[in-house]
Amino acid sequence: MPSTPEPLSLEPRLERRLASLLGAGDFLPSLVDALGSPLSVLLPDQIAENVERFRGAYGTHRLGGQVYFAHKANRSSALLRRLAATDAAVDVASLGELQHALGAGFTPDRIMATGPKNREFLWLAARTGVLVNADSRGELDELAALVRARRLARIRVLVRLSAFDGPGVRVRSRPSRFGIPAGEVDGLLKTVEQHADALELIGVGYHLDTTSPEEKARALEGCIRVMDAARGRGLRPQVVDIGGGFGVNYLEHAGEWERYTSELTAAVLGHRPPLTWRGHGYGLRNDAGTLRGALGLYPAHRPVAGARYLDELLALPSPSFGGRVLATLLLENLYDLYTEPGRALVDQCGLVLARVLEVRRTDSGEPLVRLAMKADDAALEEHGVLMDPVLLGRDGGRVGRGGDDGPAVGAYLAGSLCLEADLITRRMVFLPRLPRPGELLAFANTAGYCMDFQTSRAQHQPVARKVAAWQEDGSWRWCLDEQYWPITRPGGEH
Ligand SMILES: *Cc1c(COP(=O)(O)O)cnc(C)c1O
Repeated sequence: MPSTPEPLSLEPRLERRLASLLGAGDFLPSLVDALGSPLSVLLPDQIAENVERFRGAYGTHRLGGQVYFAHKANRSSALLRRLAATDAAVDVASLGELQHALGAGFTPDRIMATGPKNREFLWLAARTGVLVNADSRGELDELAALVRARRLARIRVLVRLSAFDGPGVRVRSRPSRFGIPAGEVDGLLKTVEQHADALELIGVGYHLDTTSPEEKARALEGCIRVMDAARGRGLRPQVVDIGGGFGVNYLEHAGEWERYTSELTAAVLGHRPPLTWRGHGYGLRNDAGTLRGALGLYPAHRPVAGARYLDELLALPSPSFGGRVLATLLLENLYDLYTEPGRALVDQCGLVLARVLEVRRTDSGEPLVRLAMKADDAALEEHGVLMDPVLLGRDGGRVGRGGDDGPAVGAYLAGSLCLEADLITRRMVFLPRLPRPGELLAFANTAGYCMDFQTSRAQHQPVARKVAAWQEDGSWRWCLDEQYWPITRPGGEH
């Protein structure tokens, strides 16, 4: 038997609603009994609360504008329909997402079409008159031609910019294969002017896949400059769209995250027993005693995430505009601020449940728990998010730490595919005790990209069903995701 590693737990951050769901006794086990494992549970009321937090950040800086939920983070109808019942908007990136948004109750004035678009997507966008966030000059040409040929009403457009580097810019922006390089503004504005009969430029924006507020601040300044150039030519843009990427804080304790990452480094260097399946380094490797590579993980503990990240970004000074803060630059120009949060808007909005099928030992004696799910059903690992699942005992009670069961135990989690790679996580997770067959593991906070973004039907295994759950008169209620509508039900409002 190997020496049992000391527990290096990564406890998930659970806010009130998600914690209450996990503490709801028999509710979750009876759902899995009825609907099978794996099962995704969504909390539509949480997305409405998250919208309020983003609105709060707008309010702090006295900015107007709109919050566009990046639909791609989750396919759920319940989330989208609940969102339609708020004053927020939605960002759709495919024909199917646009159809879904229209069907969920969003009117075209609350929909923005983003990303590279095919003809059918552009056609429906133009027909219904949604805002089009153009990804290239070619797309502007195609859209204008469509509007003229079909004699449609003038379409409102935003233009997505990228590559904000230029003279005097110290923070280099990440290369992106999307958007129009900010250096090509002249050509871009000429295109916009040529199409003035068909297109109305309402603003410019960016979406950067980075956690760095400095990079985003430079991009925002770049947008203000392009807005100035556009106004200098007589155009009247009023919107700056700063995209998404506000992030989620997945973990309860900063200390656990810091300790885990430093112990992982030590394990890669061979200074301690491995913490991962076959010594996997998550991007780090040991090159003859020297640490190489870079940690390819989501920064799971992020004290500044979501609406708070937006708030702090807007408060950053702008060196190239005399040190005034970014919010002031927007305010002085009476510009509206658009945001496109995906992951951050579905923070705490759901979980994935899986039944324990078997607990065995690996060759080296470590516990291996096989679950009735595939790795892609709760794709935390795929997205580099490391977190322990929550163990629910047979009576549905959440198994806590300590107590009679002794210290937490480490285990690897495997999926149900006959594939060596079908590990739910290559990190050894820590549980209050070893689970027993029939019990449930709950993967918390998976609504952002970790529910349905990569699911497959490999081996004819089922894809997780989705249900929506909400509280009414002090108890939990549920329905299938596609059955959910945010209407008043007898006996309660939700
Ligand atoms: C994916 C995406 C978003 C959302 O990103 P998050 O990191 O989930 O907030 C916003 N805008 C665009 C254009 C995207 O592609």
